[in-house]
Order: sequence, then C-alpha cells, then structure tokens
Amino acid sequence: MTAKHRIIQVGSYAGSPTANERLARDYDVVELWKYPEREAALAQHGKGVDVLVTSANFGCSAEMMDALPDLKAICSWGVGYETIDIKAAQQRGVQVSNTPDVLTDCVADLAWGLMLGAARRIAYGDRFVRTGGWGQVHGSIPLGTRVSGKKLGIVGLGRIGQAIAKRGIGFDMDVRYHSRNKRNDVDYRYEASLVDLAAWADFLVVATVGGPGTHHLISREVLEALGPKGTIINIARGPVIDESALVEALQAGKLGNAALDVFEHEPKVPDALKTNDNVVLLPHIGSATYETRRDMEDLMVKNLEAFLRTGKVITPVTR
Ligand code: NAP
Repeated sequence: MTAKHRIIQVGSYAGSPTANERLARDYDVVELWKYPEREAALAQHGKGVDVLVTSANFGCSAEMMDALPDLKAICSWGVGYETIDIKAAQQRGVQVSNTPDVLTDCVADLAWGLMLGAARRIAYGDRFVRTGGWGQVHGSIPLGTRVSGKKLGIVGLGRIGQAIAKRGIGFDMDVRYHSRNKRNDVDYRYEASLVDLAAWADFLVVATVGGPGTHHLISREVLEALGPKGTIINIARGPVIDESALVEALQAGKLGNAALDVFEHEPKVPDALKTNDNVVLLPHIGSATYETRRDMEDLMVKNLEAFLRTGKVITPVTR
C-alpha cells in the first residue's frame, strides 16, 4: 500500500458537506486547528509538506509559509483571498488557487434576497407575525420600497457583480457600476466616481474584493450620497464598509436601509444594527447552499489533485 501524501489543513471545513472527510480519506492530513501550539505543530510535521489547504477565513500568512520550507501550493476553499499573503507566496514560488465561478450564482441570489428583504421588509414582517404583532396593532408594518424598475448601482462588476446586474435586468432596473477599471465587455454605464454612483442609485450593492485596497471604500460620504431613500447591500467583505459611519448614517436618517451578509468584526455585529428595523442581517452565508459548498470543495480538491499530478493548480489566483 502506498503511503498517503501528507498535506496541512489549516482549519475545519465545517460549512462544507464532505470536505473534511474527503481530505482525511485520501491524504495524510495534519489538522492544524487541533493543535494548541500552531508553530510547534508546523515545526514537527511541516518538513517535506508541499501543499496546504485553507480558506479566506483561515488564511495563510508569510510566517506560516516560512514555517513550511518545502511548500509549493496553497489550495483555498472560497474565492476571496485577502487573508492569504499572495505577495509572499509569489516571492517563494508558491502557487495559490481559489474556487471562483462555482459560487457566483448563489452569492448573487443572496444579494437579491437581501435587496428584496430590505426593500419589502421581509425580515421585519416575519418578526411582526412571529411576535404576535399582526392583528394586535392597528394597520401593519410600515410601507416598503418598490424594487422593480429602480436604479441599481454595483460596486465591483466582477463575476458576482455581473451576476447581480443580470438579475437586475430581469427586474427592469437601470444598472450602472463603479470599479477601478471600466469594462469593455458590458453595456452597463460606468461611473468613475463612486460618490456619483451612490447619489444616482436607489440600491447600491457592494461586490468588490476585500483587503487593504477596498478598506472603508464605502465611506460616510458614499453612504450619505446614497441618502435617506437609499439602500446599501453588502455581500463582499465587512471592512469594505466603514461600519461606524454606517451606524451613524442609519441612526441620523441619512441612509434608508442596509442589508448585510458580512461585517467588519465578524461574528460581532453592532447592537445598533441589531435593533434597527431598517437593517437586514445575515451570518455570512453568501455561498452557503449544499450545491455550491459541494462545488467549492470539488474545485479545491481538483486543484490539489492537479497540482500533485501535473505540478500546476487549475484555478490560480492571478493579480
Ligand atoms: P472578482 O471577479 O475578482 O471581482 C471583484 C471586483 O472588484 C472586480 O470587478 C474589481 O474590478 C473590483 N474591485 C477591486 N478593487 C476595487 C476597488 N478598489 N474599487 C472598486 N472596485 C474594485 O471577484 P468575485 O468572484 O466577483 O468575488 C468578489 C468578492 O465577493 C470576493 O473577493 C469575496 O470577498 C466576496 N464573496 C463573498 C461571499 C459571501 O459569502 N458573502 C462569497 C463569495 C465571495 P477592478 O479590478 O476593475 O477594480
């Protein structure tokens, strides 16, 4: 019997249907999260290890790469890679793969769920019925906002942003976008100024990458430009929005609604957001369907297998 290939797994894929079991079945997995002392575990087991599996949540720092002198590939579960030190990986000749495309539709669907949920007060109405409000008070919940035919601004027209835009066309919306580069392959109007896009839009959906380049991109100025009738939706990463400015804008009535899947200090959510009925909150579940999570683990494993077979991952992070 051939010995299983040893790999390092940084964290447990509890949110993936069978990733932990598949890896444990086919590889000699060093389950890093089970060791109280990470450095000691890497020193003890890391020599000769050429592949590490991780996710945006667990990351891989330059220090971790230093502790794995034979590392050649990092295979990540998920599309975001802001917690993986890509520059350090490039300097060391380490390939990094992620799982793009397979999660695009489900994340776009959830952005739409959030948008409709906020505009039509779906979560509010659900609470109202459950807590016995219906029939007890005169009237019903406050009126919502029409979505169909409105103005949809998208910040970051990448894979997910384009899938959100496509759904917007189905709702007869006028779609515009902002990103660092104007795209030549779409008909949506480009806004070079994010503040101008926010001032124009009824709904502003954040679909950029995370990391230092987008930190607090959605600033107080952007939120106030979106205004008291506007709705911000975030399915990207929490730190892209200045959360303190968001809370203040909502409290001051300078922003209408917020619908959020991601937060600046997850899993912490400010009480001011929890108690605000103009806010819809979700626990970072953009890709969390059975089908998509299974596809993500399939693609991560395919990258790992391709690297071991050919020396090349199949969906490398390129930037
Ligand atoms: P993508 O195809 O790489 O698109 C990212 C977009 O962000 C690009 O259009 C890029 O355009 C834009 N962008 C980057 N920096 C920007 C900046 N400073 N200002 C404005 N736009 C900027 O990635 P994707 O597959 O659509 O995924 C997008 C992100 O969604 C991921 O990185 C991840 O953080 C998040 N995500 C969240 C969940 C969830 O569970 N909520 C699930 C999956 C993914 P330019 O380069 O032209 O600026």
